[in-house]
Amino acid sequence: MTSRRKPLVLGNWKMHGSIDMAEGLLAALKAGTAACPGVELGVCPPYPYLGLAAARLAGSAIGWGAQDLSAHGQGAYTGEVSGAMLKDLGCTWVLVGHSERRSLHGESDAIVAAKADRALMAGITPVVCVGESLAERQSDATESVIARQIDAVLPVLARAEGAGQAAVIAYEPVWAIGTGLTATPEQAQQVHAFIRGRLSAAGLKGASRMPILYGGSVKPGNAVELFSQPDVDGGLIGGAALVAVDFLSIARAAVQRV
Ligand code: PEP
Repeated sequence: MTSRRKPLVLGNWKMHGSIDMAEGLLAALKAGTAACPGVELGVCPPYPYLGLAAARLAGSAIGWGAQDLSAHGQGAYTGEVSGAMLKDLGCTWVLVGHSERRSLHGESDAIVAAKADRALMAGITPVVCVGESLAERQSDATESVIARQIDAVLPVLARAEGAGQAAVIAYEPVWAIGTGLTATPEQAQQVHAFIRGRLSAAGLKGASRMPILYGGSVKPGNAVELFSQPDVDGGLIGGAALVAVDFLSIARAAVQRV
């Protein structure tokens, strides 16, 4: 077992919640973190609740981040939120290229790379999400799809490395997101190792240190097995991140991994 990178578990709340719900969830997470030593934890609430997360989590062991950012720096982009604004709110991470952004909002690999770049320019760690669809997996195109998505962000990752900035990759098979279907630990490991190999072959010296998270129907019942894979460094959690006991249990699984 070579992977002893510090595990990272991030919750993607998507477009769920209310102020009341966010207050309750943040309080429960904050109260439960003492039981999760050795894991880096973060939540990615919707934009309107980021200020609340910042206020409630400040000084705690839980960080916060956003689910998206603009590919532009500033200007006449109605409805968009810049990296600098997220930095103002104390965000540590921002998701880029989540499959829902790629499929529902037409985000191309080039846009995802531009967003990752913007995140880094603002001093925020991009969590670059990649993953294949069911049809792509069934036609044996998983590796070519992942390679294309990773290659698109390689120049950005190289710049981050050169500047001593962190970046995170999240492998999220599209067919496993919100479906209850999970990649087997072996399937996850195979793609994670492929991603790490691709980063390394491209000359990224930090490839062996870069966290690669798994996302896609991670639950308390399957987290230990997934996180025990050598190249799986934690998780990006959707549905289960909305239930404090489940999210905390998944966080503990990152410590219990074997
Ligand atoms: C996600 O949205 O990033 C995700 C992994 O969702 P879920 O855990 O619900 O599959």
